[in-house]
Amino acid sequence: MNTSEKLIATEQRLGAHNYKPLDVVLTRGEGVYVWDTDGNRYLDCLSAYSAVNQGHCHPKILAAMVEQAGRLTLTSRAFRNDQLAYLYEELAALTGSHKILPMNSGAEAVETAIKAVRKWGYEVKGVPEGKAEIIVCADNFHGRTLSIVSFSTDPDARTGFGPYTPGFRTVPFGDAEAFEAAINGNTVAALIEPIQGEAGVIIPPAGYFTRIRELCTANNVTLILDEIQTGLGRTGKLLAEEHEGIEADVTLIGKALSGGFYPVSAVLSNSEVLGVLKPGQHGSTFGGNPLACAVARTALKVLVEEGMIENAAVMGDYFLEGLRSIRSNIVRDVRGRGLMMAIELEPEAGGARQYCHALKERGLLAKDTHDHTIRLAPPLVISRQQVDWAVSEIEKTIS
Ligand SMILES: *Cc1c(COP(=O)(O)O)cnc(C)c1O
Repeated sequence: MNTSEKLIATEQRLGAHNYKPLDVVLTRGEGVYVWDTDGNRYLDCLSAYSAVNQGHCHPKILAAMVEQAGRLTLTSRAFRNDQLAYLYEELAALTGSHKILPMNSGAEAVETAIKAVRKWGYEVKGVPEGKAEIIVCADNFHGRTLSIVSFSTDPDARTGFGPYTPGFRTVPFGDAEAFEAAINGNTVAALIEPIQGEAGVIIPPAGYFTRIRELCTANNVTLILDEIQTGLGRTGKLLAEEHEGIEADVTLIGKALSGGFYPVSAVLSNSEVLGVLKPGQHGSTFGGNPLACAVARTALKVLVEEGMIENAAVMGDYFLEGLRSIRSNIVRDVRGRGLMMAIELEPEAGGARQYCHALKERGLLAKDTHDHTIRLAPPLVISRQQVDWAVSEIEKTIS
């Protein structure tokens, strides 16, 4: 057995089997590339589900992390640290938010928003205690906690984990009429992904979010956009809401907020919603710690200063054009926005996983989602030549 076979066998023996990874054992990363333990190089077209938008091991984020780790890592929020205020200031300036609450994982940001809008519903909107409802969309992905899986419609994510948290109402994604019909006096919020990522990069019809925004405003419903995957440049804009010409009341970010170095997430809000949380009502030992803040500040800085958002827009268009030019009788649909893309295969093709395996053999890492879809989301630093190479390898694999 070589090293990777040994490591895989140990994982199989000792680890819970809650993932089914491709059998590639990675040991090093730089920019768009990662290397396995046998020295093979791969173009990473997953970017850790869009957590490494800035590219693997970005040298400036690394330097900020090392510097901060040698100075101060964790104080807890019992005391203040000299990084948090700067992160607030820089995030507020970049996104136009009035209030920010830092957490760690994406799921924690989602949970935080749910807690805050429920409380806002009771204290500000006047919903009777215990009656708050949140509208969510079918085929959503917002994380793995009990409350979040309670409103998942994916049987794998949900089945067997009850009793479930009540207070959620599910409507089809992209259907503004169904959304309108689901609103009642107890509706405190809508929680929606601008583009459904895990569902297979599902882009809603034009005008959908304009209507959702109008309905939320008219009915005093807080619009929460989960931009944990779509945000921070992935779709060619800082936030995907910009494509729709709307502004959420609450925006959730995570993943690329640290460039993949550290779990950092945040709830961005207007003053009213996060304003309801008082000392002792919510928190996290690691949330807002100085190491996380220093990493996130630099991750945001390089995203903007190094033109990664513009590059995502330009390379996304170019990549999509390349994918659309592939002639193949197993491709049902090619879609995307910026560098968030998907190739949906015909059901007769026999599943996307075997194609992801074949792509891996050619040096390109991508992840299948929901059986028939190959999701493509390379780091935002990808170059034209690298896109050309990727398109040609994909063409060889699926045509
Ligand atoms: C990844 C993701 C989450 C959950 O983030 P974790 O850090 O894995 O908890 C939530 N929402 C969306 C849209 C995501 O893509």
